[in-house]
Amino acid sequence: MILVVGGCGYIGSHLVKELIKETEVIVLDNLSTGHRWAVDDEAIFIKGDLGERKDLENIFSKYQIDAVMHFAASSLVGESVVNPSKYYQNNVVSTLTLLDVMMKYNVKKFIFSSTAAVYGLPEESLLTEKSNTKPINPYGKSKLMIEKILEDYSNAYDLNYITLRYFNAAGAHKSSLIGEDHNPETHLIPLILNHLLGKIDKISVFGNDYNTEDGTCIRDYIHVTDLARAHILALNALLNGKKKVETYNLGNGKGYSVNEVIKTCEVITGNKAVVEYVNRRPGDPAYLVASSEKINFDLDWKANYNLKEIIESAWSWHKKR
Ligand code: UDP
Repeated sequence: MILVVGGCGYIGSHLVKELIKETEVIVLDNLSTGHRWAVDDEAIFIKGDLGERKDLENIFSKYQIDAVMHFAASSLVGESVVNPSKYYQNNVVSTLTLLDVMMKYNVKKFIFSSTAAVYGLPEESLLTEKSNTKPINPYGKSKLMIEKILEDYSNAYDLNYITLRYFNAAGAHKSSLIGEDHNPETHLIPLILNHLLGKIDKISVFGNDYNTEDGTCIRDYIHVTDLARAHILALNALLNGKKKVETYNLGNGKGYSVNEVIKTCEVITGNKAVVEYVNRRPGDPAYLVASSEKINFDLDWKANYNLKEIIESAWSWHKKR
């Protein structure tokens, strides 16, 4: 039985949809940002808080858990700069509580959701897992702190874990039953699509004076179902003992500027966007693109969806909502 913490969130719920095809799943979520409807009835759902030791103890004492997958985190770069306390509390302190309860109940397999934000200002055009980690915002720092804690727990307590550093998750499930739904929405692709649906009056681009070809930030967008598949491969590698401790990047290996993403959305929807260029958003590096060669080599994972297909799936979902 697998415990998915934060399984009602955007990425967690896409993982649960795949994982319940293979095994029994318990979802723990406090529903602060996730949605109960995003998780199938086949999964056992428990409303509770990751930072509440007694909520966790209840679960670990009742169920035989083989591994934990941890998606519950605050994950907005801009917000982390103005409210770091929330990020260290939710992402570091609560995760430590989870890890300590896991150790107490002898649950020693863990999949951790990390981020490209741990790299800070990249020194290479394709980031590998060996690239320097110097995060420039509290979100990235909070995730890197847990990565370091995992190393120590592995040495001291024999924790086996795989850290997955996501680049920019986007897109929706092929069923269009679940997709990206944050409130308030801050992510680029859903904002553009909401604008093209007439729900918001323009799209603000945060900075066009970066050192990139068109001056806007470049990111590596990866389909949420590609991410979900990577989690299952990683989980199986831990469960069958093939891997004990690893870190993998998850991206497409190709970067797109904010302007290019807007253009692609316009082509797919057939609508023209109203774009306003505003100040840079604090904490944003100009360029973040992954090399995912390591997970491709080790676990035979590769991304199936390109940017166009990612946006098409997101568009089907947004139109339906
Ligand atoms: N972005 C933007 N306008 C928006 C939202 C995002 O220009 O309204 C930019 C943002 O500065 C970044 C990229 O789009 O360069 C992706 O941002 P998002 O918030 O989607 O993901 P993040 O990179 O923060 O994980």
